[in-house]
Amino acid sequence: MPYSKKILDTALERLERRKLGNKLTAERRHAEVCAAIPEYGALELSLADTMTRSIAAMAERRTDSQEIIAKALEENALIQQKMARLLTGSGFPENYTAPIYTCEKCRDSGSVDGRWCDCFTKLLNVAASEELNASSPLKLCTFDSFDLSLYPETVDPVIGEKQRTVMENNLNDCVKFAESFNGSGCGLLMLGDTGLGKTHLSLAIANAVIKSGYSVVYNSTPELMRQLDKEFFGRADTDTMQLITSCDLLILDDLGAETKSDRYISMLYEIVNSRQNRQIPMIVNSNLAVEEIKNRYQDRIWSRLFSLRVLLFCGSDNRLKT
Ligand SMILES: [Zn+2]
Repeated sequence: MPYSKKILDTALERLERRKLGNKLTAERRHAEVCAAIPEYGALELSLADTMTRSIAAMAERRTDSQEIIAKALEENALIQQKMARLLTGSGFPENYTAPIYTCEKCRDSGSVDGRWCDCFTKLLNVAASEELNASSPLKLCTFDSFDLSLYPETVDPVIGEKQRTVMENNLNDCVKFAESFNGSGCGLLMLGDTGLGKTHLSLAIANAVIKSGYSVVYNSTPELMRQLDKEFFGRADTDTMQLITSCDLLILDDLGAETKSDRYISMLYEIVNSRQNRQIPMIVNSNLAVEEIKNRYQDRIWSRLFSLRVLLFCGSDNRLKT
């Protein structure tokens, strides 16, 4: 997908920071080892010396250069074994002084065979989701700030359980969802009237999942549809559809509040279908009742929505309480 220069710069900067962090850690470890095992530094010099001798033999085109190289390789292997023994003998792991890479696949270069490595695509997606979420109240909601005392102990007539118990279970399910999030699997469908905490819990999940390094896009359905519409008609050069069908977690808030339109319905189908086919999770929130969802959306959409884990919210509008 085309990423804006700002997003690309952010991702590149984070890749550089990652490399620098690993380099500094490796240097610190090396200094630690040299201080603890004085002989280690001398062996490193011997290692460099055998390398220099091999290179010189090749450069001078000596007739016995093959012999010199073979001998140097043999010496190197012995020195390396000795260094490894010294490390483990002093209580360090055997690879303690090896270069450190966050991604072994690309060795933190960000690309493999001329293509972006998955680790770099992830950095791009995280930066892109931050950009899209910049205007959402993401930071304000956490699991800790979810106040169960706002929900009464009275039995909900539809669910048949105490409202506070229902909401406590919902809270626990959301915490579990966030804690076990790994970027694949199903998702959640949160249903209930306005002001019962659906947005709060979705944003708390978003915060936790972002902290674990995943890309999350949170948006209200009407706003998202308007943005996709702009791009559809060429009035924006971003590619939101690509981002929302590929980010690690998509949160669609307020489903059903968007204008009724065939184009919106087909865009919604594309989003839900694309994510479910690839088993990437989404959270959908709606104030609509089950029957209203079934009446408003075609079978192919609602059947997919109801394959998500359904959480029913109850209580009375918390935003009216002081
Ligand atoms: Zn990589």
